[in-house]
Amino acid sequence: MLPGPARAEEEAGGEAVARKARAARAVLETAARWGLARPPLPAPPPPASRPELVAAQGVKLANGLPPVVYRVPTEERIVFLTVDDGAEKDPEFSRMAAELGIPLSAFVADYLARSDYGYFRALAARGDAVNNHTVNHRNLKVLGYGTQREEICRQQDQLEEQIGVRPRLFRPPYGEYNEDTLRAAASCGVEAVPLWNEEAFPDRMEYRYEDQRLHPGDVILTHFRGTDLWNGSMPDLLRKVVDEVTAQGFALARLDDYL
Ligand SMILES: [Zn+2]
Repeated sequence: MLPGPARAEEEAGGEAVARKARAARAVLETAARWGLARPPLPAPPPPASRPELVAAQGVKLANGLPPVVYRVPTEERIVFLTVDDGAEKDPEFSRMAAELGIPLSAFVADYLARSDYGYFRALAARGDAVNNHTVNHRNLKVLGYGTQREEICRQQDQLEEQIGVRPRLFRPPYGEYNEDTLRAAASCGVEAVPLWNEEAFPDRMEYRYEDQRLHPGDVILTHFRGTDLWNGSMPDLLRKVVDEVTAQGFALARLDDYL
């Protein structure tokens, strides 16, 4: 028999092992319950402060304007899931993301979100980010500076009022923007403009790259869309994304921690 302190240590060690095994089993069970091929890979801890962006592949910098980012410069095998517009407010989708620990960055347009901002408040309450995607989802490139500013800045105010946090990130509808867009966005507190390199659907992922694979720091676009527009539900979509991301050896991290 071991002397007292050593035995206590051994028991504590045994408990830790058992606790880890229970946690691993719970992760497997949660993944299986949502129909995933395997559990999502855990994301590394976020950086203590957001890394300063420099011009690189996937980052467009212009003097004094918010950076436009298709891919966050990082060595980590992480990618980011962003969900746009806000028409479909599916509670199963947010429950699935929460149970699997998948972080989301939403980009909502007021005209679609305003029927139930409570859905997006609940996302924010569990740590997801709710960001700006304009008031009316118009193609900003064909609008003058003043109208662009209305579209962007009125949604900054609306989200601050509805969600309680003023967004730092903004995404122009259709990914269409010009210098006026960036100037207008900067004038009301926008710090970065993430676009995307992949688009996800319930049955497939579309890649911009020739190699048709994920790259570290990629931003993935998808939408709050239901079966009226899609051949599948939002949980089907999340299953597709997580399975693809995991199969390629990536974890999903929180965009707002890096930009
Ligand atoms: Zn959109």
